[in-house]
Amino acid sequence: MKLSVVVPCYNEALSLNEFYDSLSLALKENKISYELIMVDDGSSDDTYLKLLELNKKDKNVKIISFSRNFGKEQAMYAGLKHATGSYVAIMDADLQHTPKTLLEMYNKLIENKDYDVVCAYKANRSDESSLKRTLTSLFYKINNKISDVKLLPGASDFRVFTKEVCNAILSFKEKTRFSKGIFSWIGFNTIYVPYTPEKRMHGTSKWSIFKLVKYSLGGIISFSTIPIKSVFVLGLLVFLISLINFVLMGNLSHRTIILFIGFVMLSIGVIALYISRIYSNLLDRPIFIIKHKVGFTDKK
Ligand code: UDP
Ligand code: MG
Repeated sequence: MKLSVVVPCYNEALSLNEFYDSLSLALKENKISYELIMVDDGSSDDTYLKLLELNKKDKNVKIISFSRNFGKEQAMYAGLKHATGSYVAIMDADLQHTPKTLLEMYNKLIENKDYDVVCAYKANRSDESSLKRTLTSLFYKINNKISDVKLLPGASDFRVFTKEVCNAILSFKEKTRFSKGIFSWIGFNTIYVPYTPEKRMHGTSKWSIFKLVKYSLGGIISFSTIPIKSVFVLGLLVFLISLINFVLMGNLSHRTIILFIGFVMLSIGVIALYISRIYSNLLDRPIFIIKHKVGFTDKK
């Protein structure tokens, strides 16, 4: 029985030695046979060289290196595609996800045969700015009201799951991927365990507020058609108000007209979000491009 650990890495050169040492030690001590699928997501630092050194040292370290930075979602997808274990894990390279928690999660999964996924969720957000916390909680509230997929606040990509779950995730071919939503959509039985991410030792988080908002909007668009349908309701409302206004007053004030133009532009914007989704899926471009692959023996 093998555990495949998929690790997206973007400019993580400074963390990788410590990451590998602590993880491989923990896995060896517990006699878990493993492969580490390290995905270098177009890093501009020495991440790839560090990974080559690790592969020299340990043939269970396998490397996928992208032609440019594609993003964590794409890196996870590529890693999962190459995983061969009966169990698969996803964890970050920046030492915020600890091998200790990974082992706890793995053991939970092995011990509970009725369960298919163990997911770590952030129980404590006191390390984040209040703006980020407010936006995050707003996202979960809106998402859980209007989306087809309900998300546990704080649920992370730090997960361990079975090969069957991995295959289910890979059956999603969509270009703009929202893993949290995909995990929820596919079903299966999930155990949630609270965890507190460690402080980042090296480098910085790749998330800006702008990226976070874009990611959240994308997540909602992925699994809900309520925003685009509500354009119809909004349109109907504006139409009725203006009709009544016109009948009663005979004209519309400038302010009302400007407000309505705002509504119209907002509505076009919402429609545009969906059209851009259709467009990018229609183009059928690859989700990622691999430049180097090291350590894989199969032809996958
Ligand atoms: N990551 C990636 N591609 C990116 C951004 C991030 O592969 O474009 C990796 C990163 O190296 C790390 C993980 O995704 O292993 C989580 O990233 P980060 O630490 O920036 O996110 P946070 O922990 O702040 O949520
Ligand atoms: Mg991190």
